[in-house]
Amino acid sequence: MGQVNIEASPLPPRETRRDDPLISLVIPCFAESDTVELFVSATYASLPGQRLEFVFVNDGSPDDTLAKLLALSIRDPHVVIVDLSRNFGKEVAMTAGIDVASGDVVVPMDADLQDPPEVILKFLKRWREGYDVVFGIRSDRHSDTRGKRVTAGLFYRFFNNLAQTQIPPNVGDFRLMDRVVVDAVKKLPERTRFMKGIFAWVGFPSVGVEYVRAERSAGTTKFSYWQLWNFALEGVVSFSTVPLRIWTYAGMSVALASVVFALVIVVRTLVFGRDVPGYASTMTAILFLGGIQLISLGVIGEYLSRLFLESKQRPLYLLRGIYREGKHDERAEKSQ
Ligand code: UDP
Ligand code: MG
Repeated sequence: MGQVNIEASPLPPRETRRDDPLISLVIPCFAESDTVELFVSATYASLPGQRLEFVFVNDGSPDDTLAKLLALSIRDPHVVIVDLSRNFGKEVAMTAGIDVASGDVVVPMDADLQDPPEVILKFLKRWREGYDVVFGIRSDRHSDTRGKRVTAGLFYRFFNNLAQTQIPPNVGDFRLMDRVVVDAVKKLPERTRFMKGIFAWVGFPSVGVEYVRAERSAGTTKFSYWQLWNFALEGVVSFSTVPLRIWTYAGMSVALASVVFALVIVVRTLVFGRDVPGYASTMTAILFLGGIQLISLGVIGEYLSRLFLESKQRPLYLLRGIYREGKHDERAEKSQ
């Protein structure tokens, strides 16, 4: 039984931010053996005097990323390695890192230094003002190709028109989240992890900070256009049911049009007599309706397949180990 404080006000005052928060950087790594060492040294240089925890998630890298990370962790006790059993993709890797991160604030970052570490100081400033989420807005996307900029712009427009959850354009995963937000994100158990959407869905007082996204420090991008297309599809289907509903309206419009067309035929036959029905118009109607039906089946299939994945209740990821100072951290492994 705790002490009863009779002076406690009914509304607890907003908790003041601590001066020296532990900052957990969550870094998903897939084949990043050229970048991880650079990442740590550049981050220390950009954030002097901050308390840092590096949570590297090895997302089934085929190269020697894990060996590089283990060597780093022997030298630096602030390095934690979450080693996944295989490649699960960036979104799931990020989730695994967020699950392990112990900081007062958590910042997901790319390993290639495209998210400049010094921007975190600006994030912290806004966080101290009371915002629970401070997200980075790319002020220009010069480091991206033209094609990627155009398709990204189209995606944000499409997504925000369809989904209830609004994601601000040109905002990636690079953001600072307070512990309360992290705990909220951890409560979302869904298997289709579209993190941008999940981060937006949880809400909390948020503010954006503009930054210039750097070029990749070393190595190459891991995403092709085909993967980005699938990722966009994943995002829309996870956060909107509008694509399912469209077909009700499409069906109603086609049915209405066909009634009108039938009337036209009846009137025309009565007025002008019977004529030979057109082969072309029949084919067009059949092909058009067949196409519409296949598309709608495909859309239903997208949702059904996700329902199927969710219903299997498989764990989101499997751990091979969590390492600190070059050794298994058994306590952390057991608590996962
Ligand atoms: N990544 C990952 N698993 C994957 C693909 C990528 O953990 O299956 C990581 C990658 O190591 C990097 C981040 O996700 O830290 C962003 O990847 P990348 O820089 O290739 O993407 P881009 O910046 O080109 O969009
Ligand atoms: Mg990158």
